Amino acid sequence: MTDGYKRDDGRTPNMLRELKMNVGVLNNADGSAYVECGNNKIIVGVYGPRKLHSKKHSKIDGAVLRCKYNMAPFSVTERKRPGTDRRSTEISKLISEAITPAIFLEKYPRSSIDVSIEVLEADGGTRCLGIVATSLALADAEIPMRDLISACAVGKVDGEIVLDLSEAEDQKGEADMPVAMMPRTNEITLIQMDGHLTQNEFVEALDLAYSGCNYINKLQKETILKKYGGA
Ligand code: UDP
Repeated sequence: MTDGYKRDDGRTPNMLRELKMNVGVLNNADGSAYVECGNNKIIVGVYGPRKLHSKKHSKIDGAVLRCKYNMAPFSVTERKRPGTDRRSTEISKLISEAITPAIFLEKYPRSSIDVSIEVLEADGGTRCLGIVATSLALADAEIPMRDLISACAVGKVDGEIVLDLSEAEDQKGEADMPVAMMPRTNEITLIQMDGHLTQNEFVEALDLAYSGCNYINKLQKETILKKYGGA
């Protein structure tokens, strides 16, 4: 890491954007969360667990976690066409897969847990922030979990390994690597890579992702404790 390298928004390489988190923000959902990270704004609502009547869509040995990621038309500078597309289908699937290892799904056979992830404003890193907000909303819905899954992207911009890329950095950067993990066990539940890193850069980036996720995990826990006592 080059001493004194400053990013376009003034951050040092290992700084996250400013994070704000809140839970219990929706009255009609079983659990909810609102999270901001820089210019990203995401709200998540959880419905369930509830019994599924369809045998085709349910599982005898546990609940099915169904996450749906959606970007509002006004969430980006160039109007986003409403509805599902390939990107949102992929992100919905990977958020479900990143969160599933944390949940005791076996407690709810033949049930579903439905999660709506609504991106109100996007500025790079929404899949990671979606995972952070989903974990919080599931905890708010009192769904038993092994840990809160935390996530952040790392990457390479101007030859520097940096944490939490903005959209502008993602566009001009050489690599973007979203990572989700369960800090209690260090288990990685999502890792993607767009671009190229050398082996040493990959190790440095993963280390940075671990420290970012650990910091976010602390904030997630503080947010829950603030709401439900203990902090
Ligand atoms: N984006 C956009 N229009 C789209 C999809 C994405 O402007 O239809 C922007 C948005 O700011 C998003 C960023 O591009 O956060 C990076 O998108 P990517 O697919 O890499 O996912 P993300 O980084 O949000 O997880």
